[in-house]
Amino acid sequence: MRSLQDEPVALVTGSSSGFGLLICIELALRGFVVIAGIRRMETAGKVLETAEQAGVHTRIRTVQLDVTQDSDVKQAAAYIKDQFGRLDVLVNNAGTAYGGFIEEVPAEVWLEQMNTNFHGMVRMTQAVLPLMRERRKGRIIQMSSISGRIGFPGYGPYASSKFAVEGFSECLALETEPFGIDVVIVEPGAYGTPIWEKGFTQMSTTSGLPYQAMLDKVLAFSQKSAQQGGDPREVARLVAHIACLKRPAFRYALPRSTRLTIRAKAALPGRL
Ligand code: NAD
Repeated sequence: MRSLQDEPVALVTGSSSGFGLLICIELALRGFVVIAGIRRMETAGKVLETAEQAGVHTRIRTVQLDVTQDSDVKQAAAYIKDQFGRLDVLVNNAGTAYGGFIEEVPAEVWLEQMNTNFHGMVRMTQAVLPLMRERRKGRIIQMSSISGRIGFPGYGPYASSKFAVEGFSECLALETEPFGIDVVIVEPGAYGTPIWEKGFTQMSTTSGLPYQAMLDKVLAFSQKSAQQGGDPREVARLVAHIACLKRPAFRYALPRSTRLTIRAKAALPGRL
């Protein structure tokens, strides 16, 4: 009989909500042992409860993992090495979204966005690459965004971090391919996950600059687009599908919502 020790192992960052949590479930349903990286461990109960409802809780381990903390990242990689001696799939999913107009965004917001969305990915990747290279096998799935391809007003810090993700991932793919490691970049459009509830700072209200109405429209548009964008499970299933492919013959994966968001972008100037 196969034990969990023989099953493929996946690590998902940012697993306590949204795509991350759904990806953990979809991977577990497909036979992975899933290490769910969680920034605040008080949310671990919710993750395990969701896994139990899906009948996959025995396949999920939760680890403390704030991707901005070197110590968390190193400990998570060491835990995987000790417990399983392998990592088949890394899903670099953790992210936050802050917005506001470029002129008004304070330095700490720019730094936070780069530190979490971009450098968090770099940190996590660097920590697990030796484990994948040793086995000459591995897959790294990068959660980018359509905002990593095209700009939107009011999304400067977020889009800049996702553009950085794209450049990093392209170079990573070229460097790791000789070692049997695949890199796939997923670029969703807007989906109704918790990321939209908390990120956008309404900076113009305090500065009095004439951007507020524009920002309101952009946000309303994003929210509408997120509502229409569909079920976040389709992104989770896409990621799980990529994780299971023998060898992906593509570098970019665009969920359905991406087209919708591009249409929204095309419509924006006329509406502002
Ligand atoms: P979400 O807010 O539900 O998920 C983000 C997760 O990242 C949360 O669980 C949060 O706790 C975690 N996180 C934040 N900072 C972290 C840190 N420092 N260390 C570890 N974890 C951290 O929103 P989501 O939409 O599921 O976002 C997941 C990813 O998908 C993000 O990278 C986001 O940029 C990307 N994305 C989302 C959309 C969308 O419309 N929802 C579209 C394109 C891309």
